[in-house]
Amino acid sequence: MDLTWSAAEEEFRADVRSWLELQLAAWRERHDERILSGDTAAGFAQHLDWERTLFDAGYAVVSWPEAFGGRGASRWEWLIFEEEYYRAGGPQRVTQNGIFLLAPTIFEFGSAEQQAHVLPRMAAGEDLWCQGWSEPDAGSDLASLSCRATRDDRRGGWVLDGQKTWTTRGAFCTHLFGLFRTDADSARHAGLTYLLVPLDLHGITVRGFGRLDGDEGFAEVFFDDAFVPDGAVPGGVVLGGVGQGWSVAMATTSSERGLTLRAPGRFTATADRLVDLYRQRAGGPGTADRGLRDQVVQGWMEAEAYRLQTLQTVTDDDEGRPAGAASSLVKLWWSELDLRLHETALDLLGPEAELDGPWSKGWQFALSGPIYAGTNEIQRNIAAERVLGLPRK
Ligand SMILES: Cc1cc2nc3c(=O)[nH]c(=O)nc-3n(C[C@H](O)[C@H](O)[C@H](O)COP(=O)(O)OP(=O)(O)OC[C@H]3O[C@@H](n4cnc5c(N)ncnc54)[C@H](O)[C@@H]3O)c2cc1C
Repeated sequence: MDLTWSAAEEEFRADVRSWLELQLAAWRERHDERILSGDTAAGFAQHLDWERTLFDAGYAVVSWPEAFGGRGASRWEWLIFEEEYYRAGGPQRVTQNGIFLLAPTIFEFGSAEQQAHVLPRMAAGEDLWCQGWSEPDAGSDLASLSCRATRDDRRGGWVLDGQKTWTTRGAFCTHLFGLFRTDADSARHAGLTYLLVPLDLHGITVRGFGRLDGDEGFAEVFFDDAFVPDGAVPGGVVLGGVGQGWSVAMATTSSERGLTLRAPGRFTATADRLVDLYRQRAGGPGTADRGLRDQVVQGWMEAEAYRLQTLQTVTDDDEGRPAGAASSLVKLWWSELDLRLHETALDLLGPEAELDGPWSKGWQFALSGPIYAGTNEIQRNIAAERVLGLPRK
């Protein structure tokens, strides 16, 4: 593996760095330096303003083709962009469920017409997508889901019934992608279809609810005899074929667990901030503790290991060896690493951690890493059975 960046890549990095520095300062100033969490209604609007700034400069989705709102950058450049983004302290991407999860699936399974409609609007932050997998009785065991979509040929569309839950930022989004049972006689993984659903249709109720950290970031979505016409999305609301939902959804979850959702820049930036925190505190309480010092160094090394591993993943993928079920191992690594980095910061801060906004807020979110994108127990099952080939029982 060649670990050096080309002159053009270094130039791209320098451009991104100076653009981010300037524009992030301008964005913060536009909001009087009071940036709220993107998982609150007011904060979401601020973050959307930022998304549009990114889009106008061609930085919202750097690796997409220009026709869809990107700048045709390579995946290596995408990694550079992410490194710079987190290094500069760029805000959470409130469009992430669309651009990092649905978009790769649309690229893989969408028709030309679906791609031409959905992708540019998503890149521009005009359509905002949330993810509709979980239901009150279907979380880890997603195949037990019971939300129904019944075909109505006379009207040309689908009638939806049931409930989704834990829908991240659902209350602020305009569209949902999710799995629905289209064959009433089917069970488990069969008879499921991946649908693209506008949320403003008659019969759909979106009810936001609070998280433990106080943000209003979750929603329940109720479908009550809601009719979705085929033409609600040009090219159709079915992604990847009727009854093919499970395999299409697995492509999305693999994006969520693997590369696209959690670029290593996020963790290398956190590890660098942790080292800075340690230095600021040198000589203070906690820093005489060699165990804690080792944890800081260990955290930095683990973030770097993740960065190198990602470079390997991209190389493999470019050479036709996709990660597949191994994305479960990646998810275990980043979610547990994130938690360890934040726990070490809280140990360094001691009682002050209670007062420190960014680290304690980051820690609260890191706690959910082993749960979302499929719990870590489930990822360990997948790794055992599909990566190591161990027996199911
Ligand atoms: C921050 C956050 C954001 C989320 N965003 C979304 C979203 O946008 N859209 C969406 O659809 N969902 C979302 N979710 C929901 C998430 O996908 C589910 O919470 C997750 O799949 C687990 O399902 P559950 O909560 O029903 O837990 P359960 O499935 O009830 O699991 C409870 C416990 O049992 C364990 N367990 C269950 N089955 C097994 C097994 N076979 N072997 C070993 N252990 C097992 C689990 O690991 C867990 O510890 C989000 C969750 C969080 C925390």
